[in-house]
Amino acid sequence: MNKVDPQFSREIAGIRNAITRSNKTDYVTTYTEKEFFNGKTTVERVLIMRTRGCSWSYHSGCSMCGYWDDTNPDIGKRELENQLTSFLRDYPNGEVLKIFTSGSFFDPIEIDPVLQFEIIEMVLRGYTNLIVESRPEYIRKVLGNLKKYGGRIQVAMGLESTDPSILKNSVNKNYDFDDFKEAASALRENGISVRTYLLLKPPFLTEREAINDSIKSARDLAPYSDFISINPMNIQRGTLVEKMYREGNYRPPWLWSVVTVLQSLRDVEVPIVSLITASGKKRGAHNGHTCDRKFSEGIRNYSETLDFSYLDGLKCDCKETWKNFSEVEEEAGVAMSEVMLND
Ligand SMILES: [Zn+2]
Repeated sequence: MNKVDPQFSREIAGIRNAITRSNKTDYVTTYTEKEFFNGKTTVERVLIMRTRGCSWSYHSGCSMCGYWDDTNPDIGKRELENQLTSFLRDYPNGEVLKIFTSGSFFDPIEIDPVLQFEIIEMVLRGYTNLIVESRPEYIRKVLGNLKKYGGRIQVAMGLESTDPSILKNSVNKNYDFDDFKEAASALRENGISVRTYLLLKPPFLTEREAINDSIKSARDLAPYSDFISINPMNIQRGTLVEKMYREGNYRPPWLWSVVTVLQSLRDVEVPIVSLITASGKKRGAHNGHTCDRKFSEGIRNYSETLDFSYLDGLKCDCKETWKNFSEVEEEAGVAMSEVMLND
């Protein structure tokens, strides 16, 4: 790995922008990443827009989400228009554009409802496909207008898990599998494809519980999804998860666990990838061993091609350490970090 992990740069951008949070005029960042999309390895451009942020984060927010770091409460329609215009001036066309907003693209408070569709129109003049993210509660209102872009827009929803207790107690998501199913079905009935994010290892889960939860969740939601992305936890600034991590009560998942989840789902017909933020780093999924780079590359190569040989070829002696860690946790009946294990 001789380049900066593109998703890791998103985290860096967050830290950087915390220092200049008064910024209203510039989008957060743009970069490219590769993914197996539309049946082939595709280079996708990512644009992270700076908005007022997720409305849920103003009320409470999810336990792992530090994306408010990239937001500014005073950003309105004009600032968003300017961000998009300046982005499209530099990057007018391509195959796939992903727009992330650190919130929901279809939240009318975050992005003016008229502007939402102006953005879609402008982007689809130069790009073949557009991927945006949204919580499910905003979908119903935009369906009528969204319909005509069927086949060219994909809506990503971060369900994280299908387990109601994990969503409520570990993630604090404030929506559940039923809400997701309703929105996903409505989108697909109108020709809009659905991408679903799962969170590997929400807080309070042991390594084994986390693996089982992601496997079960992916199987549960596959019938409602056109694309699944397994996102292993990365520790973001100013979150509950960061607090637990600092106190020695949380460890991000092992890369072994990511591989296990992906391998266990090989019979699922929906494409499943895992683009890992801070892979191999302490704050991201890691084995904590010399194999971290090899595993990160293997998972990345798999996610770009869906070729399981990249995962099946991953071997290392630290598999025993990972298994022991899991067993100690199960015996203790509680999620642990290495700090606790070494005490
Ligand atoms: Zn190893």
